[in-house]
Amino acid sequence: MTSETHPIPVDATAPVGFHKHDHDTCVQTALGAAEAQCKKDGLRLTPVRRKVLEMLLQEHRALGAYAILDRLRDAGFGSQPPVAYRALDFLVQNGFVHKIERLNAFVACSHPGAEHSPAFMICRKCDAVAEAKSAPAKGILGAAARAVGFEIERTVVEAEGICPDCTEKA
Ligand SMILES: [Zn+2]
Ligand SMILES: [Zn+2]
Ligand SMILES: [Zn+2]
Repeated sequence: MTSETHPIPVDATAPVGFHKHDHDTCVQTALGAAEAQCKKDGLRLTPVRRKVLEMLLQEHRALGAYAILDRLRDAGFGSQPPVAYRALDFLVQNGFVHKIERLNAFVACSHPGAEHSPAFMICRKCDAVAEAKSAPAKGILGAAARAVGFEIERTVVEAEGICPDCTEKA
């Protein structure tokens, strides 16, 4: 453990999501971290925001906005798309949820509270998503950027392939 504030006891570079783990603890820890951060930053984790985060935490899988809206409706939060979109905007802006551009869908952050650039591994068979941390500013891209005086603010890393579960089943 390099970071004492990191709420999930994993190797900081290990991707979370594919391998079996104590998922109840995983969900509770992430919800707790989000609540603590909101309190610290004076943000309001309203019931609908909390519900959307909880739904995404339940699965290490990306959900599209419409799937989220369906589940909100089932949970009694109404069925107005802006409700879901506003909750997602809040969660993405504050780093609790990431958008996966490739799938146009959302996934809960696996490293809440830690400053990071996410890198995703997306299974093309079962849509499972694991999040690893990347440090593109330190890699080859970072070197190229420095060479031309470009300052990287954000990168999107989305690798597509086959997850260990699907490889075993094959
Ligand atoms: Zn989990
Ligand atoms: Zn993340
Ligand atoms: Zn898979």
